[in-house]
Order: sequence, then structure tokens, then C-alpha cells
Amino acid sequence: MPDTTHHEVLIIGGGNAGISLAARLHRYGVPDIAVVEPKDHHLYQPLFSHIAGGKAKAAEAIRSQASVTPPGVEWIRDGALVINAAANTVTLDSGEQITYGHLVVCPGLQLDWDKIPGLEAAVHSPFGASHYEFALAPKAWTLLSSLKSGTAVFTMPSGPAKCAGAAQKPMYLACDYWKEHGLLDDIRVVMVQPYPTVYGVPGVDEELNRKIAEYGIELRLDSELAAVDPTAQTVLIRNNTDGTTEELRYDVLNAVPPQSAPDWLKATDLPAAGNDGGFVEVDPETLRHTRYPNVWSLGDAAATTNSKCGGALRKQTKVLAKNLVAARKGAAPTEKYNGYAVCPFTVSRSTVVFAEFDAGYRPMPTIPKVPTWKESRASWVVDRDVFPQVYWNLILKGRA
Ligand SMILES: Cc1cc2nc3c(=O)[nH]c(=O)nc-3n(C[C@H](O)[C@H](O)[C@H](O)COP(=O)(O)OP(=O)(O)OC[C@H]3O[C@@H](n4cnc5c(N)ncnc54)[C@H](O)[C@@H]3O)c2cc1C
Repeated sequence: MPDTTHHEVLIIGGGNAGISLAARLHRYGVPDIAVVEPKDHHLYQPLFSHIAGGKAKAAEAIRSQASVTPPGVEWIRDGALVINAAANTVTLDSGEQITYGHLVVCPGLQLDWDKIPGLEAAVHSPFGASHYEFALAPKAWTLLSSLKSGTAVFTMPSGPAKCAGAAQKPMYLACDYWKEHGLLDDIRVVMVQPYPTVYGVPGVDEELNRKIAEYGIELRLDSELAAVDPTAQTVLIRNNTDGTTEELRYDVLNAVPPQSAPDWLKATDLPAAGNDGGFVEVDPETLRHTRYPNVWSLGDAAATTNSKCGGALRKQTKVLAKNLVAARKGAAPTEKYNGYAVCPFTVSRSTVVFAEFDAGYRPMPTIPKVPTWKESRASWVVDRDVFPQVYWNLILKGRA
């Protein structure tokens, strides 16, 4: 018989969502909270783009998991393997079984390298990288900053993605670097992206298109990566509107892989039937599971309709924490998440276009009369210098 323990609140995933929620629940006086997290380190992923663009050191984006786990919250260093929500049990990789009063499922996204033939080999080859993998983000900058002429290809996948616009960020940082060093005229820059416009938020698109014209970037809209040949250094790009393909030779490739919920989560009955990405079926406003009232989800693994990002999570954490506290008292959840999301585009080495928008990609500025979607130096300082501090010191402590 497996060992069985019990926790009032069991959180699966000790990333941005799991730690900030655990800290907030603890602050609200909820007893007996445990976080299941297999990794011994915690990553601040928004800095990966800056690392790949030569504007941050890898060490700034990583801390030990022990140091971010809130005092009073138990860290179970293990992975969740099976969830049986009908029986209120979670089985861990080690075979241990845990029962719970409330379960919060937030294990983030998995990177589906194998969905594009040749992609994984390409990003590990001497000419490829991906800033969506912490270990490969410094390599992206080594390759981009060493390029003196030739072709640099950047790609964004279709389907769900962490901060989807982040696919473009190292590209602008590199272009500005090449411009500054008089190299840009000798470098062909191609951005492959699956949507009909550069991002989809009015106002933001105009700013990004202006920068794309300034740097002479070739934008392949409605297109995605179909295959990579790392030996020949070629990408096959498919246009999804007319089905045509184009083969391009690259000197540097920075690719973002397709993404989905972890396979083990897809195998549970927490996603809705037919939810391809395998995300946890929750009410997108209250974040409570639609079939299991003591199961909740937030962050990248939740089937909410917003763009998946840390900025969305900051709002979701407060909503979920308050609703879970109410549910423990037998009350109905009343707090509602409004679909807010954010994407700070690093459009140069000192400026940012700050996109804030709702689930329909309509502008949703935090400070209504300030045009934060315009390229600005102040937004750079907020994104590069202020946000990392806010993350480590306030968000992960359940205070922002
Ligand atoms: C390159 C890049 C740039 C980004 N830029 C921005 C940005 O500028 N602004 C912004 O707001 N957001 C940005 N994001 C998105 C942001 O980082 C994510 O939305 C956020 O981290 C999601 O939090 P999460 O807790 O849902 O997932 P994560 O933070 O990914 O955490 C998930 C955790 O679950 C754990 N886990 C996985 N499987 C299991 C298991 N079986 N059992 C237990 N635990 C498990 C993982 O180890 C991980 O620690 C960016 C992301 C990337 C990759």
C-alpha cells in the first residue's frame, strides 16, 4: 500500500502561480498548505528574452526553490503523476499518495519540441538556440552577437504559448545591436509568425510595424515553421492561408517550440473533453473547476481565455486566493478575473512597447490616459529593472 498524507490545500507546481498563490493563502491564514514541485530551482522566465538579447545575465533569472518557498508552506520535492479528483487524491512520481481538501493545479506548459521535425536537434546545433529554454537563452545571445552577415530567422509557433509575443523580443534586441555596430544592412532578418498581424492589439501593432520597418525585418504572417534541417541549416516555412512552403537557409535560428499542458495532466479528467491543449477546465472568471468544486487552476495550465503570461497571473492569484478562502467557509466564490494580460515588447536595447489587453486582444491599459503602448524608455526601466524586483520581493511573497 502506498503511504498517504493529507493537506488542506495541495498546490501542484511551484512556479510563478504556485508560489505566489501559496504565499497569499498563507498570508490569508489558510493552514496546512503544501506545494509539489520536482525542480530544486525557480526561474523568472520574462528575463529569458533579455538574456537572449544580451541585456541580462542568466544568474538574475534563477533562485533556489527553497529560497522562494514561503515560510510555513511545505515543499514536497516530487512530481505529480496522477490526479483522481473524484477520490481527492494525487499520486506522486515517488508513489506517495496525497489526499487534499482543495487542490490547485498549476504545472505550467510543456515545450513540444517533437511537433516540428528537426527542431530539437536544430536548437542544440551550433547555429540554433531557443530562449524558451533557460539553458539555451545565453547561447542565443552568443550566436546573435557573433553574426556579422547572413540570415537570422526567428519563429513563433501557432497555438498556446507562454507570453506569445516574447518570440519577437530577442529579435528587436539583436537588430538594435546590429544597427548600433553597423551590421544590420548585411543581415537579413526573417520573423515567422502564425497570425494575420504582427501581434493583434490595435495601437501595439502600429508601434511594432514601425520598428519592423525601421530594422528592415521581413515578416512572414499567417506562417509557421514546418520542419528544420539542422545539417543543411534550412527551415521550411508553411503559409497557413494558401498552403505554400518556402525553404530558407539560416546562419542563426532562434525558434520558439509549440506548447501544451503537460502530458500527464492531459491524461487526467481535469481538461474538458476535446480540449486539445489539455488545459484544466475552470470557470475563466472564478478559476474554480467546472465539475470538481474543490479543484482550482490558474496560470499557463488553466483553460482560461486570456493570453498566458505572468501579468495575467498576478490578477488571477488574488481572485483564486479569495475565492478559495470563501469556499473553505462554505461561501460561493464572488471574485472574478477580468482577462487582463500584458506583453512588454523590448523593441530596442533601451525602449519597450507595453501591450496591455483583454482576452479579446482589446487594449486594457492599467493607467487609462497614459499611452503605455507607445515605445518608451520608462517602460524599459519598469520591465527590465523594476519587474524582476517586484517578482522576487512582492509577487512571490503574495504581496503584489
Ligand atoms: C521566454 C519567456 C518570456 C516571458 N515573458 C513574459 C513577460 O515579459 N511578461 C509576463 O507577464 N510573462 C512572461 N512570460 C510568461 C510567464 O513566465 C508565465 O506565464 C508564468 O511563468 C506562468 O506561471 P505558471 O506558474 O503557470 O508556470 P511556470 O512558472 O512555468 O511554473 C510551472 C511549475 O510547475 C512545475 N511542474 C511541472 N510539472 C509538474 C509536476 N508533474 N508536478 C509538480 N510540479 C510540476 C514546473 O517545474 C514549474 O516549476 C514569459 C515566458 C517565457 C518562457
